[in-house]
Amino acid sequence: MQIEDIVVSRAIITRYTGDLLAALDTDVAIAGGGPAGLTAARYLAEKNLRVVVFESKLSVGGGMWGGGMMFNQIVVQEEAKPILDELGVRCEVFQEGYYTANSVEAVAALILGAVRAGAKIFNLICAEDVMVRNGRITGLVLNWKAVEMANLHVDPLAVQSRYVIDATGHDAQVVNFVVHKLKAPLQTAGGGLEGEKSMWAERGEGVILENTREVYPGLYVAGMTANAVCGGHRMGPIFGGMLLSGRKAAQLIIEREKK
Ligand SMILES: Cc1cc2nc3c(=O)[nH]c(=O)nc-3n(C[C@H](O)[C@H](O)[C@H](O)COP(=O)(O)OP(=O)(O)OC[C@H]3O[C@@H](n4cnc5c(N)ncnc54)[C@H](O)[C@@H]3O)c2cc1C
Repeated sequence: MQIEDIVVSRAIITRYTGDLLAALDTDVAIAGGGPAGLTAARYLAEKNLRVVVFESKLSVGGGMWGGGMMFNQIVVQEEAKPILDELGVRCEVFQEGYYTANSVEAVAALILGAVRAGAKIFNLICAEDVMVRNGRITGLVLNWKAVEMANLHVDPLAVQSRYVIDATGHDAQVVNFVVHKLKAPLQTAGGGLEGEKSMWAERGEGVILENTREVYPGLYVAGMTANAVCGGHRMGPIFGGMLLSGRKAAQLIIEREKK
């Protein structure tokens, strides 16, 4: 077979723009493709919701690839192990209640799980603002990460979604847009962005599910963002809380859909 470069280009452009057009109006838009965002995406897509993940980096998977300090192993506690089991990730008991998994295997499985469930993942695209109508988040405003990095004056595009999940990690970027641009109060204990506390795995993991919630109409927080927004501790390379939080954010939206 003779390979024509123009056909290769046409195939890529056609398929990509088709996916992007389909993503313009979706059920759930997730900012951030780390462990929390990917886990939420999988559970939501398994319930046949239309889910789109926007990840600003080239590689999806957030901070999980590097395990702890680039030792590419992660630790998960008993409660979170079933989430990795569902994906076929091999976990080893280290000590009662503590399991280890290879971080590369775990991230690969989280990505494949989300994609196979039907979630669409777009890398290299970052959320740079939110759409708000009548006091409710109705979508994300997006641009190429490369545009942001090069500081180019290029206007963004917008996608509409019935729910948004901020899973952007420590920076809680989407929540920051709400706080700084809308000057809107959040559904947190103090009514604002409480800020992340220093590393304390026991405390951080203990509150992350409580902190995984709707913080502004239509906007949910998951993973490290949940603790950063609600004043929880960071927890370092124990990843169970990220997985459980992603699942909880999905469950909250699925429950809301039933009403
Ligand atoms: C690169 C990196 C390295 C890390 N290394 C360590 C470490 O060595 N030790 C440790 O204890 N903790 C580390 N962390 C933090 C730890 O990994 C996190 O606690 C954990 O990964 C949190 O999971 P998460 O899913 O909440 O968010 P993350 O894993 O942080 O994933 C968030 C994702 O959102 C993306 N994102 C951010 N802003 C936007 C935006 N505006 N639009 C679209 N996407 C966006 C990020 O690129 C990232 O992929 C690291 C985090 C990152 C991102």
